[in-house]
Amino acid sequence: MPFPLPPGSTIGILGGGQLGRMLALAAARLGFDVAILEPEPDAPAARVAAHAVVGGYDDPAALADLARLADVVTVEFENVPAAAVARLVELGAQVAPGERALAVAQDRVDEKTFLNAAGVATVDFAAAETAAEAIEAVTRIGAPALMKTRREGYDGKGQRWVEHAADAGKVFEALGGVPVIVEAPADFVRELSVIAARGRDGGVVIYPPGENHHENGVLRRTHAPAEVGAEVAGQIERIAHQVLNGLDYVGVIGIELFELQGGRLLVNELAPRVHNTGHWTQDGCEVDQFEQHIRAVAGWPLGPTHAHARVEMTNLLGDEAAAWARLAAEPETRLHLYGKREMKAGRKMGHVNRLHPLG
Ligand code: AMP
Repeated sequence: MPFPLPPGSTIGILGGGQLGRMLALAAARLGFDVAILEPEPDAPAARVAAHAVVGGYDDPAALADLARLADVVTVEFENVPAAAVARLVELGAQVAPGERALAVAQDRVDEKTFLNAAGVATVDFAAAETAAEAIEAVTRIGAPALMKTRREGYDGKGQRWVEHAADAGKVFEALGGVPVIVEAPADFVRELSVIAARGRDGGVVIYPPGENHHENGVLRRTHAPAEVGAEVAGQIERIAHQVLNGLDYVGVIGIELFELQGGRLLVNELAPRVHNTGHWTQDGCEVDQFEQHIRAVAGWPLGPTHAHARVEMTNLLGDEAAAWARLAAEPETRLHLYGKREMKAGRKMGHVNRLHPLG
């Protein structure tokens, strides 16, 4: 067993975006080297890593390079092709989180089926693969309903409301005629999320929950720790254990939750990786989600998760990042920029954590 990996070992990361970059920085702090595999040259994570392998996730030579360099391989995004992970495993690489967790999180139907089987509540749902099945599914769930592509949707993309069952065929075609899930509307009062981690010894740690606000389907702000009562905190703890143990998970996971009137929680989605709603931990906790993930995949002891500050995390989208000098001058503000070369409208360029005393 190579674990715990000693400092000087190399952590491989599939994906070279901002999450990979912040994972790489955290790994460096613990004395690890990092190897990034990413199709684009000059990616944000590659520029802070010891090794940058430029190649597609289906490129056998690139996967072989990563497997050779890395003592453990992890991911910064969930839509890694299953074949890439299978190939890395064949080459003898240790991959965490494992193939099953990634496969479950890649498919909205498999994800909800897993959750329900693990005793975790979600909205009612039905799967459809043809326009006729889509009409049947909306009829069964009841309109209005939300139709989403089963795979590869993110930030509100690949999903549409269906107001009447008769429209379901048209909406199905508009989503590309690919397999979909039809979801009952969650009548939520708040969107919460929890970041949790499971180590190689099966130990679980859980951060305080965050309260999330989206604009145009994209996360705008997280307030953490969210104010929740003991009952909701208990549900969060139970859900995190059921999900992490049920997937035999290693690493950090983001669990998106709907809080209904009365405090009942439903799980919306799992992100088998560090998560945007966990960025507050960088300045609100002693061990943030990025270091926690590196510790978990390297087989190190997990660190403390309690908050030492109240944090408002705000994403900097597009040209909002141009205000860096003003933001850097705010004494309560910690500025995190991702080093992206091009400032495109709506693109996540960085975030700020504004700190307030607890209480
Ligand atoms: P998702 O891509 O599944 O994370 O959904 C993006 C956002 O759409 C969520 O953060 C919610 O605001 C909203 N949403 C997703 N699913 C539902 C649902 N079943 N009912 C109501 N709102 C939803």
